[in-house]
Amino acid sequence: MSNEAASAGLDPVRGDGSPQDQTPDALGPVGQLTTPPLPAASVPDVRDRISAPAVIAREQCHAARHWHPLKDGRIQCDVCPHDCKLLEGQRGACFVRGRSERGMVLTTYGRSSGFSIHPIERKPLNHFFPGSSVVSVGTAGCNLACGFCENGDISRSRDVDRLAEEASPLAIARAARAHGSKSVAFTYNDPVVFFEYALDTADACHELGLKTVAVTAGYMHAAPRWEFYARMDAANIDLKAFSEDAYVKLAGAHLKSVLDTLIHVRYATDCWLEISTLLIPGHNDSAAEVSALAHWVAGELGPNVPLHFNAFRPDWKMKNVPPTTPAALGKARRVALDAGLNHVYTDKAHDIEGGTTFCPGCGRATVVRDCGDIRHYELTAQGACAHCGMRIAGCFGEFVQPFGDRRIPLVMNARH
Ligand code: SF4
Repeated sequence: MSNEAASAGLDPVRGDGSPQDQTPDALGPVGQLTTPPLPAASVPDVRDRISAPAVIAREQCHAARHWHPLKDGRIQCDVCPHDCKLLEGQRGACFVRGRSERGMVLTTYGRSSGFSIHPIERKPLNHFFPGSSVVSVGTAGCNLACGFCENGDISRSRDVDRLAEEASPLAIARAARAHGSKSVAFTYNDPVVFFEYALDTADACHELGLKTVAVTAGYMHAAPRWEFYARMDAANIDLKAFSEDAYVKLAGAHLKSVLDTLIHVRYATDCWLEISTLLIPGHNDSAAEVSALAHWVAGELGPNVPLHFNAFRPDWKMKNVPPTTPAALGKARRVALDAGLNHVYTDKAHDIEGGTTFCPGCGRATVVRDCGDIRHYELTAQGACAHCGMRIAGCFGEFVQPFGDRRIPLVMNARH
């Protein structure tokens, strides 16, 4: 067990049958483990997006955490590695955290870009209460600069006034409970940038017996990372590439911080972890890079952490890149299975094999999916294979009628 996990009294094995000697000796810098060296690369500086000073409306000023004053009179946001240094009235590179006369503030607290109910498989999480529904919540802004973002309307939005839907943390939790959802997911844009709203909503959810889910790129500093994942029951973390160069070019971020987050969540929290990688032709989809990524996940996080490969669709700054072919997704899946991972998924329609959870013990298909739909289910309430009894890694319960592959828009109102 790692020193950090041990000192926290945490068991790194979560009923998944993986031996403890798979854990690293220390949770120190990822580069001291088996991570490939991280070459210096020229970064398209996301901090160029820091705004000019302008008055931030008082009603948008919710006190933010994790910042400190600098000697030159500016203050620095300590939530993510961009370390934005701000004068009064400036907003950081994520557009939505800024400095008012009172210090750092979050300008999107209590306001959302919309609410919907989805199957949990669409987050994607395949080992977290399969078949249950989840209320999805997002705001505006993002701390990454992905040229392929499919949620660009909200992630790149500086116009927080577009956030028409108001909802308190308690209203969201009550709505999720009223609609029979198992959990609330912080998604669409990265919850790292609406940290305080997400955590208050997580607390409200837990008070009502609901679970919480983060869908995130995991790009954050250590102190907020501890605070954030202590309140999350599950996370799907985007691992956008497995080279520093690709990370910088694709997302304006650095690989190491994301790997640190993955190790933290796996070994220092009770948060269930799954990983997603969007395969972008010519950028991160070589067999060598996919193999390196999968070997790192298997070696550092263990063979039972699920890995999802998603298909790229040309968008925004990357309209000249072709879409990922089904053959490329299948090939990546085989490469990752060969690297020793037990659960590798392709999140695309009608790839039944790529959506199926196979028992690592007997090889039988235990959960058969077609994207968000569950077609066949053979696990016990404890998540054990109905054929050989082996526990499948994850969080399971009594399986009831699955929610199905649908999306229901959710309107917040006074009844919640
Ligand atoms: S969270 Fe936003 S304001 Fe804070 S450092 Fe990151 S990009 Fe800058």
